[in-house]
Amino acid sequence: MEKLNIVIKGCKILTPEYKILNGSSIGIKGNRIAVIAPFEEIEKKYEIETILDGYNKLAMPGLVDGHVHTCQEFLRGGTCDEYPMIWTRFLIPFESNLDESDVYASSRLCALEMLKNGTTGFAESGGPLIHAAVKGYVESGMRARLAYSIMDQGREIPDCMKSDKDSLIKMTEDLYHEANGAGDGRIGIYFGIRQIMTCSPDLMRMTAEKARELNTGVHMHLEEHKDEVKFCLQNYKMRPVDLIESLGLLGDNLITAHSVVMTDSEIRRVAQNHVNVVHNPRSNLSNHGMPRVSTLLEWGANIGLGTDGTSGNGMDIFEEMKILRQGEKFAYGLSLFDPKCMTVEKLLEFATKGGAHAIGTWKEAGSIEVGNLADIITINLDQPHISPSLNLVATLVDHVNGNDVADSIIDGKLVMKDREVLTMDEKEIMREAQIHSDKIRVKAGF
Ligand SMILES: [Zn+2]
Repeated sequence: MEKLNIVIKGCKILTPEYKILNGSSIGIKGNRIAVIAPFEEIEKKYEIETILDGYNKLAMPGLVDGHVHTCQEFLRGGTCDEYPMIWTRFLIPFESNLDESDVYASSRLCALEMLKNGTTGFAESGGPLIHAAVKGYVESGMRARLAYSIMDQGREIPDCMKSDKDSLIKMTEDLYHEANGAGDGRIGIYFGIRQIMTCSPDLMRMTAEKARELNTGVHMHLEEHKDEVKFCLQNYKMRPVDLIESLGLLGDNLITAHSVVMTDSEIRRVAQNHVNVVHNPRSNLSNHGMPRVSTLLEWGANIGLGTDGTSGNGMDIFEEMKILRQGEKFAYGLSLFDPKCMTVEKLLEFATKGGAHAIGTWKEAGSIEVGNLADIITINLDQPHISPSLNLVATLVDHVNGNDVADSIIDGKLVMKDREVLTMDEKEIMREAQIHSDKIRVKAGF
């Protein structure tokens, strides 16, 4: 008799078409979804190792956070309502004072926060000493794409945070050879480009070439705000997308975070080159403005969602869906009387398939289908703010939040059960986190 390691028994399932399938069960073999059928049928055909009770639960694809700042865990709440420049007054003193033990503690806390919010995979935007985070993410059981914070120019950047282009490329290449594919293939090493203002054109060109050679991705902040566009026009007589296109960076292995101030022409080329645009709705709305999501969609761009790390708003992708829905309706839907300008189905697609595309698992994750990777979460529906509902798909976006996630399965392994994370010692992580937070607060002079 064939063996299944986990069966989620008798749950509702969010289908790839964003409809609800009632009373079915999901069987997992190895790290893949092997069967979706009524439990009685599965029971007859398979030997089952673990049964996860799916009663009053909705199984849906795990969420993907496409833009995370692992190393800013201990910056939470620290920049709220502060005057500019946040970058020079907070981020530089904070990041330049981190040591490897801080980054390891950050990665464990960050993983815990993401798991509790239903995130199963993520892309790190580029952090200092990120090699120290690999161990934390391997332990967590999560799917991760990690990158270093890469900078080789910028007057205000201290020497300890930047280096020459050859050393920077070698640093990522070394980590790639050491850690790419770690954690049974769950960990991938990407190249980072912090942003255009802090990376020379030569460094960006070399990054594009090396990433292609190693068949891996690149993660960068792009068109985040007008200052970046102004810098680009002043120094290179080109807009940001024109510049990175000339350097060979546009491609399906590129993640661009924020991407708020793109022109029509830039949007068209980003979409045609299958770039993964990751919006960070809460971060964008409070700092930079509303991304042009409808236009990006019209051109067929792949869109994912990110939280921009915990420091500003926390790491709940459900909240990002809500804010993008309301922001898009306010910015475009109201004035044009287009109530369907940002549907719940589209938002769920961004948070699952779009993110899976961004982290390079788009052919095999992001939806609950036989043969796909088993990255699945369940939502506890038995709560007054969720049930009963006339339209559970709408409720999933408009009412559910990260605290409603009950279980999490990643790569076929049960990582969280009834909100208890099984891969990590939650109490120890919290205790350690407080120690590191107190330490970095003093070191950074906050
Ligand atoms: Zn960011």
